Amino acid sequence: MKTFPMFLTMTDRRVVIAGGGEQAAQKCRLMLKTEARVVIVATELEDELAGLVAAQRIDWYRDRPTVGIFADTALVFIATGCKGADAALHALAKVAGALINVVDQPALCDALTPSIVDRDPVVVAIGTEGTAPVLARQIKTRIEESLEPRLGDLAALAGRLRTSAAQRMTPANRRSLWRWVFSGAPRLSHATGQERDAARQIKQAIEAGRAPLDDAGLVSLVGAGPGSRDLITLRGVQRLQEADIIFYDRLIDDGILELARRDAERVYVGKTPGTTAWPQDRINALLVLAARQGKRVVRLKCGDPGVFGRGAEEAAALAEAGFAVEIVPGVTAAAGAAASIGQFLTTRGQTDTLVLTTGTCRAGDAAPDWGQYLRPGTTLALYMGVGNAAGIAQNLRNAGVAGNTVVEVVGSACTPDQVQLSTTVLNMASDIKRAKVSNPAMILIRSPKVSGVACVRLDGGAVVDVAKAPFAA
Ligand code: SAH
Repeated sequence: MKTFPMFLTMTDRRVVIAGGGEQAAQKCRLMLKTEARVVIVATELEDELAGLVAAQRIDWYRDRPTVGIFADTALVFIATGCKGADAALHALAKVAGALINVVDQPALCDALTPSIVDRDPVVVAIGTEGTAPVLARQIKTRIEESLEPRLGDLAALAGRLRTSAAQRMTPANRRSLWRWVFSGAPRLSHATGQERDAARQIKQAIEAGRAPLDDAGLVSLVGAGPGSRDLITLRGVQRLQEADIIFYDRLIDDGILELARRDAERVYVGKTPGTTAWPQDRINALLVLAARQGKRVVRLKCGDPGVFGRGAEEAAALAEAGFAVEIVPGVTAAAGAAASIGQFLTTRGQTDTLVLTTGTCRAGDAAPDWGQYLRPGTTLALYMGVGNAAGIAQNLRNAGVAGNTVVEVVGSACTPDQVQLSTTVLNMASDIKRAKVSNPAMILIRSPKVSGVACVRLDGGAVVDVAKAPFAA
């Protein structure tokens, strides 16, 4: 290691920033996250810095800099944007014995600023000694994803309760208390916005002298999003990292499973269409069994767990067995597919209604009457539809939908295998067959209002503007 990471105590210490432009303002923003007293050394200030001086958040030293200004500092940043001026200021600060960072000049730096993940007071600093800033940013993104935004508040709460835990609990019980706080129910409550609940649980455990033994059996139905791993929510990633066991589906990308803890068990319960390898009641029974074993369970489903995911059946089975179920939403395939082809599911004045429906129902159930839903002003998003494209097209035509209505088909949206097909109601079945688009695929059909006024559909299926219609509706 050419550099060594340390956390400097900044409270009431002086930080001097030489420079009055944007580079200096950037460093100033960073230092104002700390409790340091910031002094700017410059003859002129850009607007943001001038505003901070006016608000008395920082001090401004506008005279010619001397060695003395750099003495007794925690850190000196030199950021004038001019190499000559930087070198002269560096020489002065060096004489003062300061710890110096010269922006964009690593050779002159005693200290390098890391990439920071800030969950104050929890702070993660990432450094690559200047070799790979892009890698540092990638690592930062991974860590950002895995630490919920409010984690710092939970750590601060724990800090405030440390003394009372130390007074009431044995060291072993304290260790298990904090393990439970940061991986059990308090963290979960806190992460989902129930801060008071989290505080109450921790205080009760401290009063009782120990963490509750049974923190087990929480099951989360987590939406993985439509495919690509950066489309899962931060809460979803959090649950994956807490999970002891993950039951996942056919459409879950491997990259998403990599977000889980390395030692978490992964169980594939995918249902390849047409097979009965994993009947739903067997999946339900496995979820209940894992919860009974005290495991933290994640049931990972593609898209959103509440949309055509049989989540309700799983939640019912778990509730019947006495287990709490949490639903973590995800980006549903309709949203993913529309976004991936640059379209909007609704557009003001054109489509005010969005219908999510399926092209495939439980055997024996009547199919939805798609044509009835596709009224002017509506977008129809069809899941599991490509296998029944001919039936859907026929139903639409029977309901009077114009044959030339545009149909967008998006296969494997948001994945490297994405395919897009633009066709019409008339040709959709044959085009889908010819292009060999298979599931997973979304069919999106928009029936816009005409000219922003109420429409009527005439016999023959054409949608016309009432104003221009040959007769009033
Ligand atoms: N819960 C999921 C839907 C599950 S049903 C969600 O909210 O998206 C499975 C169907 O979802 C597939 O047959 C397909 O119609 C659609 N689907 C899922 N992922 C998809 C993707 N990446 N691209 C296109 N369609 C997808």
